[in-house]
Amino acid sequence: MRRKLAAGNWKMNGRTSDLDQIDALEAAHNDADVDILICPPASLLARMSARTTKIAVGGQDCHAATTGAHTGDISADMLIDAGATHVILGHSERRTDHGETDDDARAKARAALDAGLIAVICVGETLAEREAANTLDIISGQLAGSIPDAANGTNMVVAYEPVWAIGTGLVPSTDQIGEVHDFIRTKLEARFGEGVGRSVRLLYGGSVKGSNAAEIFAVSNVDGALVGGASLTAEAFSPIITALDAS
Ligand code: PEP
Repeated sequence: MRRKLAAGNWKMNGRTSDLDQIDALEAAHNDADVDILICPPASLLARMSARTTKIAVGGQDCHAATTGAHTGDISADMLIDAGATHVILGHSERRTDHGETDDDARAKARAALDAGLIAVICVGETLAEREAANTLDIISGQLAGSIPDAANGTNMVVAYEPVWAIGTGLVPSTDQIGEVHDFIRTKLEARFGEGVGRSVRLLYGGSVKGSNAAEIFAVSNVDGALVGGASLTAEAFSPIITALDAS
């Protein structure tokens, strides 16, 4: 039985004044039977985690090393020190903005698992790759390259995020989402065995909103969502959590 997960990625958004969104979310969903995760910027991690018991808090990246001369970076252990339990890795914006590769994502994920974090590993094709009918090959390569051997259903979540759907308002059809999620499940079962492969939670990410959440959550092998823009306010994120809880 996979526990559903509603995860929010605040990206480079959020100030101290936005922490009251967490109070509102906690009040609205204290009895929800789903996991809720918010990944704020590093500047808010410690204060956000100190503010809530219901909502898990995560980083948006970590370094593959535990310590050292890496100006501007943050280690998995530092995220834990700030109260994080999860970390997003291999997000397409990290891949684009910072040239991160599958190897980078895998090394970071290994560090995250070693430190005791749950890694939310992102994969997804570009529009050109989809139009060239390469989606499943791309996803297959990213899964093989980005997921470390030590991963399992307890320490890893996989997020399918088509690059062309992130922040654009474009959403794949439910058939397209289902095809990729079923494919990811098959790949995980083949690599890690049926039991482990079936236990990994698979999130869909890309322009999820209150208005489309229910139909996305009805798709097979969708265990929740990774949400960017619509996670920034309790008002926008709440209907997504409610739809997940009802699914
Ligand atoms: C994301 O950044 O992971 C994301 C899915 O963003 P959005 O929901 O804004 O498309």
